[in-house]
Amino acid sequence: MHELSIAHSLLSIIERSVPSGNKGTVTEVHLDVGTLSAIELDALVFSFDIIKDKTISSKANLIINSIQGKGKCRSCGSVFPIDKFGEACPECNSFSIDILQGKELKITSISIED
Ligand SMILES: [Zn+2]
Repeated sequence: MHELSIAHSLLSIIERSVPSGNKGTVTEVHLDVGTLSAIELDALVFSFDIIKDKTISSKANLIINSIQGKGKCRSCGSVFPIDKFGEACPECNSFSIDILQGKELKITSISIED
């Protein structure tokens, strides 16, 4: 499962982000996840909850901010929401589209409580 390996990466990023010597507990991890990133959010949260045990993130909740995919047509220049790759421009039906956003997967903030 692809989400499990992402959850492992998140855990190691969190561990590296918390200053050494900090004895606090990670309570919240905020993520931006694009709708084009091909990540099942439920599966990601599920995987994270399974593997976070016995890490500094054992009490952490993932707070996911979904980023709507957006494309720009190279033919007519219109900008429109897209939910998957390979969609045509709604204005001119061109398939020549630049993805403006929606592929992101990043941690935007980590909350630590003493
Ligand atoms: Zn177009």
